[in-house]
Amino acid sequence: MSIKHIGSFFETYDIDEVWRKILLGKDFIYQNTILSISKEKAIIHADDNAVLMALDMQKNKLLLDINKKLPKIKEIELRIRKEKIIKENKEEKIIKAKQEKIENFEEIKKRMFEKYSYIDDEESKKVYVAYAIHRELNEIERKKEGAVKCLSCKEYFVRVLNEDICIVCINKKQEKDINFIKQKIYNDPEMTKEYASKIFDISYYNYELALSQILDEKMLDLQYKIEINLEKNIIDLSKELKEYAMYYTGSKNPKLLEIIIEKTKKRLEKIALSFYGVNIKIKG
Ligand SMILES: [Zn+2]
Repeated sequence: MSIKHIGSFFETYDIDEVWRKILLGKDFIYQNTILSISKEKAIIHADDNAVLMALDMQKNKLLLDINKKLPKIKEIELRIRKEKIIKENKEEKIIKAKQEKIENFEEIKKRMFEKYSYIDDEESKKVYVAYAIHRELNEIERKKEGAVKCLSCKEYFVRVLNEDICIVCINKKQEKDINFIKQKIYNDPEMTKEYASKIFDISYYNYELALSQILDEKMLDLQYKIEINLEKNIIDLSKELKEYAMYYTGSKNPKLLEIIIEKTKKRLEKIALSFYGVNIKIKG
């Protein structure tokens, strides 16, 4: 595909690659059209009348899409082309480059054509096969780099330690564990991390994270209640303070709660004074 200078960017673009991006999601139209630029005009050649009509019907929208990539274009001209437009297959090109390095390429190719033999249309079959081969070659390359298959998502990843699942899956699992145990702590503030570990197989670390998220939420709630009640001299936060203290101590023991409630009250009154410059009294 030809390389041209576009607009005043003084950059070299592969114009067909730009066109492909403009038509993202409209692969059929892309496969049957070529874009060329003449000053402020975009000339679109189509090898099919139906495609030309489809383009004509959405000309305004198309100009907007083109302008996202090529802001200098002011008009569109549509032209029909007698010869069939054939785009080179990018996947195929990448495969060719890798082909030399892989010994059992022919075997992979044969296997993939067998796998997709149920597809009647030769062109789309080739696309599926190309993607599948590309994927397999990537896997082989990753394996050579010492990557292993993640037990959870089956993608290849390079190990840091001896982990069996990739970092994406580790993060997902952690998020799930934290949300799960958060609900359990909400329902039972007296649940310990030992219990969470033994019964629900939640690590101490995730338990601590879940608990600190709950405490953050409760503290934000307390601060919000103060913020919206600043004009009052006395703000009653007894319910919220008791809850906060319960999660903080992991206990319902009134004496223990009292200590934390008193401490938190003083802290909040200080915050109110330094943040808002008001002297409030908190009831708890
Ligand atoms: Zn994974």
